[in-house]
Amino acid sequence: MRVYNFAAGPSTLPLPVLEQAQKELLDFNGTGMSIVEMSHRSKPFMAVNDEANALLRQLMNIPDDYSVLFVQGGATQQFAAVPLNLLKNGKADYILTGNFATKAYEEAQKYGDIAVAASSKESNYTYIPDMSTVKFRDGIDYVHTTYNNTIFGTRYTELPKTDATLVTDMSSCILSEVVDVSKFGLIYAGAQKNIAPAGLTIVIVRKDLLGNASPICPIMLNYAIQDKNDSLYNTPPCFPIYMALLVFRWLKEMGGVSAMQKINEEKAKMLYDFIDNSSLYTNKVAVKDRSLMNVPFVTGSEELDAKFVAEATKAGLVSLKGHRVTGGMRASIYNAMPIEGVKALIEFMKKFEMENK
Ligand SMILES: *Cc1c(COP(=O)(O)O)cnc(C)c1O
Repeated sequence: MRVYNFAAGPSTLPLPVLEQAQKELLDFNGTGMSIVEMSHRSKPFMAVNDEANALLRQLMNIPDDYSVLFVQGGATQQFAAVPLNLLKNGKADYILTGNFATKAYEEAQKYGDIAVAASSKESNYTYIPDMSTVKFRDGIDYVHTTYNNTIFGTRYTELPKTDATLVTDMSSCILSEVVDVSKFGLIYAGAQKNIAPAGLTIVIVRKDLLGNASPICPIMLNYAIQDKNDSLYNTPPCFPIYMALLVFRWLKEMGGVSAMQKINEEKAKMLYDFIDNSSLYTNKVAVKDRSLMNVPFVTGSEELDAKFVAEATKAGLVSLKGHRVTGGMRASIYNAMPIEGVKALIEFMKKFEMENK
């Protein structure tokens, strides 16, 4: 019995993908072994690696002058890798829109002159600062943003107004909506939210930004080295790359990112509309900045929140407990969450509201 899993990450994966992985686990493509048992330099694995790379390029319409890297260490490792590779003049500006944005900023401070250009901390990150008013310093190497804020449920709908290189963390929204990659110098994302099991991190970087790494940059974090070796400098995370490939194929079959965006908008609208019209639940995020992927909500009573989570779990709607810094509930409705899952959640929320008036 499969439940509807609203976990923020690692999170639910498409059922057809899991079934295919199960089917191929003992014998991948007639090799008589699993994809996780073979050399990462073997032909079958190299074909998986190449197809995953090519499909991601296709799905995101990534221009040829960008390199797509498959690395390890999670998005958190990128908090260090970004400054270690991109700080040519030693200066960068960060926008603080949540927990991960702040962690990225704190890590970068070890490597250069890093400033906060804007922050929504004073309102507990319930909005994205107005991009038309945010000013950046002269001579910066990049501006860092966190495109979708997984814990607080916000997302950017406008980009910073600057000629500086834009760097963004898309861990919890990559492939959920159409993005113009050419507007960014670098996009990174941990795979375990919208793509694959944990262990894979995706870096999409414009090639002219390669080659400026600090002398202290560890070799594994050096984008130019990873690029030169097609991300096979050492053993890559073979299984998550294979799973990512299956997810990319599934996404292509679903009609690609624009088709998925429509479904995501429909799912999110259903849930937000229900919350806004309910007298029990509230979502505190500024309406224009609401995430399509992570929907936090509260009842206003901690006791009732706990009861909600416990009863939802019994009803097969799991991992709805909010992050420990926000409390309440959070429904993560990534690409792999079917619309039926969101409908089931809303039905449960209605019933719970009736019973707890
Ligand atoms: C989950 C998450 C991270 C942390 O990712 P790890 O892969 O666990 O390091 C960073 N940024 C955002 C936006 C996230 O959602």
